[in-house]
Amino acid sequence: QYSTGVRKVTLIPGHGIGPEITVAVQKIFEAAKVPIEWDEVDVTAVRGPDGKFGIPQRAIDSVNENKIGLKGPLMTPVGKGYRSLNLALRKEFDLYANVRPCKSLDGIKTLYDNVDVVTIRENTEGEYSGIEHEIVDGVVQSIKLITEEASKRVAEFAFQFAKDNKRKKVTAVHKANIMRMSDGLFLRCCREMATKYPDIKFEERYLDTVCLNMVQDPSKFDVLVMPNLYGDIMSDMCSGLVGGLGLTPSGNIGKNGALFESVHGTAPAIAGQDKANPTALLLSGVMMLRYMRLLEQADKIENACFTVLKEGRVLTEDLGGNSTCSAFTQEIIKNLD
Ligand code: NAD
Repeated sequence: QYSTGVRKVTLIPGHGIGPEITVAVQKIFEAAKVPIEWDEVDVTAVRGPDGKFGIPQRAIDSVNENKIGLKGPLMTPVGKGYRSLNLALRKEFDLYANVRPCKSLDGIKTLYDNVDVVTIRENTEGEYSGIEHEIVDGVVQSIKLITEEASKRVAEFAFQFAKDNKRKKVTAVHKANIMRMSDGLFLRCCREMATKYPDIKFEERYLDTVCLNMVQDPSKFDVLVMPNLYGDIMSDMCSGLVGGLGLTPSGNIGKNGALFESVHGTAPAIAGQDKANPTALLLSGVMMLRYMRLLEQADKIENACFTVLKEGRVLTEDLGGNSTCSAFTQEIIKNLD
């Protein structure tokens, strides 16, 4: 339903280097003639009637209307009354699956050259439910919430993702040997879902074993699905295997929409100096185009970006080069055809 006409997409440039890398993505999309119209919104926290800080209404309305968005990094002020804006966005739009493809890139030298894994993280509950309290002085309890509903939908997402993307295997990552009930329930939901996808191999592995095996031989893994906290850690670890957060895209998918984002922070030390690397946001944009079924434009932009990385002549400083964000952007545009 997404392939015809010009579609409106919410654009959240964010803070720090966010606006610079956003402009880079907009320029490349324009040059590639991507048929989307940006609806730019600011999500800097505003104080609501209840005195708490939250996302501005205009941003909420935009995402609700467009159902799809691209987002740069956000700065969450440290202090009382502030909640992570990223967390607020995920909760507000019930973006229940976080998808992070980590694939080795030609021209980016890391310890491994055969990585091709996708981490799928449950994004709404688990250890990050935000239910914490002090029982008595010096004793704090934090609740890990696992529900059948959330576990089933993320398991289903993982298998469907594997099927749609011609992947062969889904690994459920867990600690059900220790957390028998909570991880046990998550695992049971994955097992049940596996029976509905007989063409996709299913395996269950302990989190610690996956960490060990992943750094020994990442080619052993394909698609991984796991509860929130494990996914948070594993996804960054897998990004590290292919060159870090400056290069890895990510998508947060919900039932009625999706928000794609770069996973690095606002990099305040280099903000406003035309030094930032826009690759992670650009490749998140490419993921978004595939989600919208704009496959031709997605391939074209991805190929141009991969070519520039592979040639290694025009690279930003974080990749060992000495080019600006603007020069890197222009080089990608030159390679579009
Ligand atoms: P960071 O990712 O901003 O920076 C870590 C290091 O990586 C720095 O050296 C930075 O210069 C470099 N870096 C990151 N992205 C880069 C890019 N695209 N190009 C070139 N270099 C890049 O992490 P941090 O310093 O821990 O956090 C800074 C701020 O970002 C904090 O306010 C934090 O709350 C926020 N943050 C936001 C998100 C998000 O919105 N998703 C994620 C992490 C941190």
